[in-house]
Amino acid sequence: MAKPEKTVEQLKMENIISLCKRRGFIFQGSEIYGGLAGTWDYGPLGVTLKNNVKDYWWKKFVTDREDMYGMDAAILMNQNVWKATGHVGGFSDPLSECKKCKKRFRTDQLPDKKKCPDCGGEMGEERQFNMLFKTNVGAIADDTSVSYLRPETAQGMFVNYKNIIDSFHPKLPFGMAQIGKAFRNEIAPRDFTFRSREFEQMEIEYLIKPETWKEIFEHFRTEMLDWIKEIGLKQENVYEHEIPDEDRAFYSKRTIDFEFDFPFGRNELYGLAYRTDYDLSRHSKSSGIDLIYVDEETREKITPHCIEPSLGVDRTVLAILTSAYTEDELGGEKRTYLKFVPKMAPVKIAVFPLLKNKPQLVEKAREVYQNLKKEFGLVEFDDNGNIGKRYRRQDEIGTPYCVTVDFDTLEKDSAVTVRDRDTGKQERIEVSKLTDYLKEKLS
Ligand code: ATP
Repeated sequence: MAKPEKTVEQLKMENIISLCKRRGFIFQGSEIYGGLAGTWDYGPLGVTLKNNVKDYWWKKFVTDREDMYGMDAAILMNQNVWKATGHVGGFSDPLSECKKCKKRFRTDQLPDKKKCPDCGGEMGEERQFNMLFKTNVGAIADDTSVSYLRPETAQGMFVNYKNIIDSFHPKLPFGMAQIGKAFRNEIAPRDFTFRSREFEQMEIEYLIKPETWKEIFEHFRTEMLDWIKEIGLKQENVYEHEIPDEDRAFYSKRTIDFEFDFPFGRNELYGLAYRTDYDLSRHSKSSGIDLIYVDEETREKITPHCIEPSLGVDRTVLAILTSAYTEDELGGEKRTYLKFVPKMAPVKIAVFPLLKNKPQLVEKAREVYQNLKKEFGLVEFDDNGNIGKRYRRQDEIGTPYCVTVDFDTLEKDSAVTVRDRDTGKQERIEVSKLTDYLKEKLS
């Protein structure tokens, strides 16, 4: 039977994955040993893009605000944390195995729950599969030494609620924020980094008085939509999905999934949930420690309620990459480029000497490069091949501006040519004004 032709979107995804590998954004985890499913290694450009995402999130949601307390909690936690939250008993997805080819699938993601999507064989009984990665802490492996790699960053904040209260005496509402790794033994990792077994989250646990939940939920909804715009995702590809009562976690009074049109379909990018006082109440009960808030004026005691904006770092990077990926024609030539917004671009500027074998040009270009590097971080120097090829290479990794030093720079005008990635337009800018010019362009 002939294989069905690949769709435009499938081809696009293949091109993105191959660009990511070729240009050092993202590699398969443990590749030389045949890989490890659901793990990905970020190369030099990938880690810079990821850091740009995390740095900007931290700036927007933590340092630019007065009501946030940043945290970095341990990944390994006391097993009772996960018993209290219900993860040990219930953090599971439905799994079923094909009786013929023995492949395992997440039952809720099968188009036909009775038929294997790969070989057409009959699917076996559905059972619950717990996604926690279990390990033992210390030299003795028994029930008391069990621990889990955290499946979310959230609980690291809830268990530190009392520490934050005791050290900072914040007034409600206030938030705890954290960026860090999370681990889930996903049944079927898929779609590049979209569903990984090891990934990163950026989460906020925003603690409130219950009567204020509606306006604060709305505040974070707007903030998340602004964030989506600011990191360069196309608005027309983002959908807000109101989770209906019957599908929401029992403790949540409202949840919105922000979905994104990835090339492999519309899928969850972020979540925003009103979790009531579920987490603090559970930890209070299980630990025996009072996790209450005493209002300084009224002396009223309450267990704060919580609004949780939860963002995946890897899904953000993937959405940025798929949104930025562009194929067009420039000067009669086909090209592929990443149309990153400047603040996300891993390399901000590339500097070229017009010719590689003219020492004066190279020397001047290196001087310009060193100066820009001090100001803009990751700046590349490239003297390989002709200028056209260098532009293509920089376009492919999404560098917004290329600067060329030529003979006129040395002999005539002390200026350089600055070329814009998206339009290909070139401008002559004096070297003495270059930093300010680029600062403005990149801001
Ligand atoms: P899904 O329904 O896709 O499994 P979820 O609803 O279980 O996701 P949450 O528990 O709400 O996800 O996690 C918060 C965020 O963490 C998600 O919106 C997503 O950005 C990210 N995330 C969750 N699971 C994964 C994963 N396996 N790989 C990469 N990112 C993930």
